Amino acid sequence: MAFSPDGFLRPGNVPRDAEARATLDRVCAGRRLSHDPQPGAYHPLWGPIREVATGHATDAEVRFRGSSGGVLSALAIHLVETGRVDFVLATAADPADPIGNRTAPLADRSAILAAAGSRYAPSAPLADLETHLAAGRCFAFIGKPCDVATLRRMAAHDPRIDRLIPIKLAFFCAGVPSRRGTQAVLTALSVDESEVERFQYRGDGWPGRTRARRHDGSEASMTYAESWGRILNQHLQFRCKICPDGTGEFADIACADAWVGDQGYPDFAERDGRSLIVARTPAGAALLADAVNAGAIATEALAIAAIERMQPYQAARKRSALVRSAALWLASGRGPRFARLSLLRLTLGTSPALLVRNFIGTFRRARHGRRG
Ligand SMILES: Cc1cc2nc3c(=O)[nH]c(=O)nc-3n(C[C@H](O)[C@H](O)[C@H](O)COP(=O)(O)OP(=O)(O)OC[C@H]3O[C@@H](n4cnc5c(N)ncnc54)[C@H](O)[C@@H]3O)c2cc1C
Repeated sequence: MAFSPDGFLRPGNVPRDAEARATLDRVCAGRRLSHDPQPGAYHPLWGPIREVATGHATDAEVRFRGSSGGVLSALAIHLVETGRVDFVLATAADPADPIGNRTAPLADRSAILAAAGSRYAPSAPLADLETHLAAGRCFAFIGKPCDVATLRRMAAHDPRIDRLIPIKLAFFCAGVPSRRGTQAVLTALSVDESEVERFQYRGDGWPGRTRARRHDGSEASMTYAESWGRILNQHLQFRCKICPDGTGEFADIACADAWVGDQGYPDFAERDGRSLIVARTPAGAALLADAVNAGAIATEALAIAAIERMQPYQAARKRSALVRSAALWLASGRGPRFARLSLLRLTLGTSPALLVRNFIGTFRRARHGRRG
């Protein structure tokens, strides 16, 4: 994987023969996304749900360092410390490139803690998957919804995946900003990229500030509302804008921000971290119960209807995913294929004016090649 000129990670040397294309079609979630015939509890907006709660890591340092309530890190630490897995494959800042990401096996609390926090920049957590599978050790996986969905699709063809990766965790994802987004944040902070020793998008509080620390120890920062809301979200990958799975529907557990807000939109005021936790599979529900019983995380029950107030963007994007992908197909003659995600049902329940706006916006973008 290497950066393209527009700042996204892209694979090099992809074979273009028919067999390779068929393999990609079989496994890549960017091309095709579909549930198996839906099991009982499928919510059209929020996907498969066995349990939903809000919660946080009980270890105060994990909660503080985490992006929201530190639940993903707490689950990872719990899995490693109870010996359920040998390590967790997760993504952290790249020591050789402070604004880049690197996925690595993390085998103890301090390594997992160092990787806590969201990194709003391209990552490729599956790039070295074969190396880890070939080593034959048992691990948990943390990634974006598309990483986990691809892993599930690969598992249908590679029995090692479910045997060696018993737990697959995701976070809700509004889309991956290009590296240029982070560079634009640095420009706004008046920090030269060459001066950066450490770059943190958020965490150390909820949501926590976006911070660039220079080699000389000085630091420049801005609020999460400024970095994400004004800069990074202007640099999103085009494919993410038509994504119907921003909520990790294929994960065992998906975590998100349990935002608090007035008037239907999160207020991003600084608070003690709180995650939204959605256990989606029997394995996810069992892990959640186990982590609560062991005292690793504390939870409070949440009604499914309350999720939309916390995640209005995710609700809006799934409602418009079908018309956006239809616009892409019409404009370019190609695009991803989606099935069994309740998209038609959501579309029929959405305001026609909103759908038309979404259709036109996506059609124009696709026609003018603004694909990101
Ligand atoms: C690109 C992006 C978009 C997001 N969009 C949303 C959203 O729309 N709504 C929402 O509620 N939350 C979103 N989040 C996730 C959110 O910020 C929190 O990660 C989530 O609330 C879980 O918090 P936590 O405290 O449990 O996680 P933590 O305990 O902080 O753990 C976070 C985990 O995520 C992994 N991680 C961080 N960045 C990346 C990355 N780029 N690629 C792969 N793995 C990574 C880390 O390895 C770590 O294991 C997004 C995160 C990213 C990176």
